[in-house]
Amino acid sequence: MIDSAKEQKVIGSVPTGLFIEGAWRPAEHGATFLVEDPSTGRVLAEVADASPADAMQALEAASKAQPGWAATAPRERGDILRRAYDLLLERQEDLALLMTLEMGKPLAEARGEIAYAAEFLRWFSEEAVRIDGGFAVAPNGQGRLLVMREPVGPCLLITPWNFPMAMGTRKIGPAVAAGCTMVVKPAEQTPLSILALAGIMQEAGLPDGVLNIVTTADPGPVVEPMIRDGRARKLSFTGSTAVGRKLLEQCADQVMRTSMELGGNAPFVVFEDADLDAAVEGAMLAKMRNIGEACTAANRFYVHSSVAGEFARRLAERMDDLPIGRGVEEGVVVGPLIDAAARAKVSSLVEDAVRRGADVVVGGKPLDGAGYFYPPTVLTNVPEDAQMRHEEIFGPVAPVVTFETEEEAIAAANDTEYGLVSYVYTRDLDRALRVCERLETGMIGLNQGIVSNPAAPFGGVKHSGLGREGGRLGIEEFLETKYVAIATS
Ligand code: NAP
Repeated sequence: MIDSAKEQKVIGSVPTGLFIEGAWRPAEHGATFLVEDPSTGRVLAEVADASPADAMQALEAASKAQPGWAATAPRERGDILRRAYDLLLERQEDLALLMTLEMGKPLAEARGEIAYAAEFLRWFSEEAVRIDGGFAVAPNGQGRLLVMREPVGPCLLITPWNFPMAMGTRKIGPAVAAGCTMVVKPAEQTPLSILALAGIMQEAGLPDGVLNIVTTADPGPVVEPMIRDGRARKLSFTGSTAVGRKLLEQCADQVMRTSMELGGNAPFVVFEDADLDAAVEGAMLAKMRNIGEACTAANRFYVHSSVAGEFARRLAERMDDLPIGRGVEEGVVVGPLIDAAARAKVSSLVEDAVRRGADVVVGGKPLDGAGYFYPPTVLTNVPEDAQMRHEEIFGPVAPVVTFETEEEAIAAANDTEYGLVSYVYTRDLDRALRVCERLETGMIGLNQGIVSNPAAPFGGVKHSGLGREGGRLGIEEFLETKYVAIATS
């Protein structure tokens, strides 16, 4: 167990002001809000609570820095990202502890997220020098076509609480690489990781004004004026579909470019020919990573009736064995949910399913005591009308449903307005390709329970979002295309 002196030291090392034009400053009128440890409810820090006027200063700083930053050498931008990558890994232990304290995830997972977050910086340090354009002879031979790529301009980046560092670097990395300046608004519940990152980016050599951070407990009135102002040319948002939809409306007014990484409702389909050991292993990853609080979390398990009993039994056995506790305690696998409302939502989804006829194999009731703990839960016979088959559970609950035919499984998997990720387990290659082609989803884990990879295009279809983050496409979201028609004689 980490001693509290160490926890205090890590928390105390993080600046808690607004980061604007390379300097830390308090919010207007000294306003602050509190950040809590969800495993105890204890206050960790008091962070600057930006006003709309503070936000406009951050946007002003980003706008002022844009022309100079766009003119820097790609190699220089890449080198800054590479140094930041090294620093993140050098400080992995402290950054992981910080994240566990503010978000609750177990230390081992927080360490994994720091490594994952750092990889985005490394990936985009390599992409910075690969921005290219095009040149062609016009089809009729008269004239030349020159295509140039330029940074889109100042960006607004909004991140959620569930992956406090990685959702930041997945946006900051490509924005820096492309030559964009930015204002970042991290989630109210987990601002400390991004504030720590700001210091690291500065230490890595990022010039003042390129990255500005605005923390607030009231995001609507703080973000909207920055969108309406017109100087920001891009919004990259990760969060719920409801908020994403609202922000899209605001962006329409300024015809602003948007990337939207929104909610999910991932199906996890196990066919009768699947390797059941691998499927259970994958299910544990897809369900329990981040305590089930991931947009990629398996939300509905569709299992062929011939193996469903065995699958549910084995999954329940594994889930029941997971140690629950504060994430800072070594060996803990299941930390708390983010807050009381999140736990109440999970609880009510389980109660609703049980009321409609589902059976509880393991778990099923919130835990008493401090912190927002909910035990790993497996339900079977979850009927079609249960709310959890249609909504993101965002917690450690696995509803298992049976199917008879491939057609039925595909139809059930696609029966949602979301389309972020799906998981498919089968050993039949023909079936695998057939099913992958028919699933309405941005990503598929084929015989594996995790898809996230900085080198791959992450994103969804339908109400799960617009655009892609990571991979070769990640930097495209931050680049504009300019075509020059050249006359030739
Ligand atoms: P959320 O409530 O939508 O919040 C996301 C971010 O938006 C936070 O920074 C939040 O600030 C801010 N926000 C809220 N209302 C706003 C408004 N009116 N104007 C501007 N900003 C606003 O989502 P969440 O509960 O933090 O995160 C969970 C959701 O994110 C889930 O649906 C999950 O699936 C999704 N997610 C998607 C991906 C993906 O890549 N597709 C990845 C991770 C999570 P406050 O914190 O102050 O409310």
